[in-house]
Amino acid sequence: MSRIHLSKADVTAVEEQYILDAVRSGWVAPLGPDVDAFEAEIATRTNVAHALALTSGTAALHLALLELGAGPGTAVIVPSMTFAASANPVVYTGAEPVFVDSRPDGNADPELMMKAIDTLRAAGTRVVAAMSVDLFGRCADYDEIVPGLAERGIPLVEDAAEAVGATYRGSPAGSFGAAAVFSFNGNKIMTTSGGGMLLSNDGDLIERARYLSTQARQPAEYYQHTEIGYNYRLSNVLAALGRAQLSRLDGMLKRRREIREMYVGELADLPGVHFVGRDKGRGDDEDNCWLTCITLDPAVTEVSPTRLMAELADEDIESRRLWKPMHLQPVFASHRSFVNGESERLFDRGVTLPSGSALCDDDIERVIKVLHKIVE
Ligand SMILES: *Cc1c(COP(=O)(O)O)cnc(C)c1O
Repeated sequence: MSRIHLSKADVTAVEEQYILDAVRSGWVAPLGPDVDAFEAEIATRTNVAHALALTSGTAALHLALLELGAGPGTAVIVPSMTFAASANPVVYTGAEPVFVDSRPDGNADPELMMKAIDTLRAAGTRVVAAMSVDLFGRCADYDEIVPGLAERGIPLVEDAAEAVGATYRGSPAGSFGAAAVFSFNGNKIMTTSGGGMLLSNDGDLIERARYLSTQARQPAEYYQHTEIGYNYRLSNVLAALGRAQLSRLDGMLKRRREIREMYVGELADLPGVHFVGRDKGRGDDEDNCWLTCITLDPAVTEVSPTRLMAELADEDIESRRLWKPMHLQPVFASHRSFVNGESERLFDRGVTLPSGSALCDDDIERVIKVLHKIVE
């Protein structure tokens, strides 16, 4: 029996061909036609005017935050329930991340987000942006976040790193912020092995970010610099890989959603088992189902996440805890936070199950069998 991974890269002969074509075309240099085409295709798919291909989602967040004025003496609202890559770039800019807690589906609580902004402002703190995270491929509550921030004049940075292909009330993930970010890391819904995209309808913002991403080189005949820049551009070969993955995205999304339905169909009746993000009646067709997460209710079952993960590991099945909230991380302990207990509850009870689109039905059946054995 082979090892079952959580979310392994799903690559085929299509990807090989795109990479081979890029290499044979001679465009092995950082930029090239696949970078331009990849940006255009992602922008079209996301219904956003401009896209900039970068070396990672983290780099894209960094540039978005710089463009929106994050820096020393300012604060940025960040959901606590996320990967550290959401919060780290805030610190790179010199701004302070201030954390807000979750709704039961793990996404930021919009009311807490507005309360944090109002409280910080009343105390004289300059808040330059608020970040949303489309957690595990499920969009945040934009019906509330977008008008709440507009009322306060605060730009939104949408961290849609996990949410490529998801939609919210018909609009694509990545289309909600003043700037938005995708990640194409190896374990995400589609991959360039490592890479990211910055999206915005603001052409000036993207042009400035493009300039900063290429060492802030002034348009002069010699190397002239008036600002500190970065080396953040995606290479042409990796963009070719991204284009191949994008051509297969709909199939990969379909498979992730099928896997979600298999888990729900077979596990929903297990005592104390709940699926994160399925209880809100918002419909699930809009999730990209990047990772399927369950929680174990300690009032109903004695099985803990630690035990479940150990038993899965015995069967050579990879699983993970949910993100440990940022406000509980030692490195962010000194930062302010607005908490309600939801993210901590999800962290204490949650486990993510193998969800990669390359997994076959037999793999998922194997996972389901182990879960039945332990939890029943
Ligand atoms: C993966 C991820 C990132 C970072 O993306 P990289 O491409 O790995 O830099 C940022 N935010 C969230 C929520 C992520 O899951």
